[in-house]
Amino acid sequence: MAESKTFPFAFFEGKIIPTELARVNIMTNALQYGNGIFGGIRGYVAEGKKSVNIFRVNDHYKRFLSSLKILNKSIRYSQRYLIDITVELAKKNNPRTDCYFRPFAYAKNFEISPDLSKLEFDFAMYMIPLGEYLPVSKGLKLAISNWVRINDNMIPSRAKVTGGYINSSLAKGDAAKLGCDDALMLSSDGHLAEGSGANFFMIRDGVLITSPKYNDVLEGITRRTILELAGELKISIEEREIDRTEVYIADEAFLSGTGAQVAWITEVDGRTIGEGKMGPITGKIQKLFFDIVRGKDKKYAGWLTKI
Ligand code: PMP
Repeated sequence: MAESKTFPFAFFEGKIIPTELARVNIMTNALQYGNGIFGGIRGYVAEGKKSVNIFRVNDHYKRFLSSLKILNKSIRYSQRYLIDITVELAKKNNPRTDCYFRPFAYAKNFEISPDLSKLEFDFAMYMIPLGEYLPVSKGLKLAISNWVRINDNMIPSRAKVTGGYINSSLAKGDAAKLGCDDALMLSSDGHLAEGSGANFFMIRDGVLITSPKYNDVLEGITRRTILELAGELKISIEEREIDRTEVYIADEAFLSGTGAQVAWITEVDGRTIGEGKMGPITGKIQKLFFDIVRGKDKKYAGWLTKI
């Protein structure tokens, strides 16, 4: 994340405690084997700056629990209770800036074994202040990685599994070394899957196109938001496989995610996307998205949970 600062309180082992005391033993299975699942949720300072609103918290925890279900594991908290913990932690930390919640369910056992069936999961969460994770107004320079996206029968992309992020780290790390902001990754069948931590969208001839859920992508909450907003903006949508070379000749392209928000792409593999500027369709989507998360567009107030 861009900022490494944290808010003073975290939720750990059933209670809210000072973040610096929320520590695990080095023998913890999740550290050794990556047996954990996590979420990433944003809180946005509302228009008028009187409150902070958490964006689509229900949907985030639904996916969080689905990730656990894929691992065939559970934690002692229900979706409702996880939301309550999030609101309680937010009230305690009392953010005055945009912020990010990192809920985490992790294997807390000390055994030297990857045997998931024997592992017990606990839940923890911390908060950090977070502005832009990727620039949203400058235009991203991306490279298509030669690291292939993990697939559903390997480490499911659909589940936000801790260990799976080594795949993202390899791709993003190598892209950074090439001077790029991020990587795009191809699926095992050679189609464009997604970024290292964001979904991919492109526009060709007025149609908004994104990789389908079955093409090794995380089912992004922002992705879904954008598809819903495209309906309101009367933009045609295609959820279908994307060829690599279609990206090069797209009129517009952008990444979507809780961290990335709506971040437009200026260049992929040295090819300028469209005219190298933020395109009109991306611009409309980005504006509506920010109006909604900042609480300016009352129609979508149901997506916001006020702290
Ligand atoms: N893909 C990956 C691999 C991610 O890590 C993320 C960030 N959670 C996304 C897509 C976007 O998902 P969301 O919009 O739910 O943040």
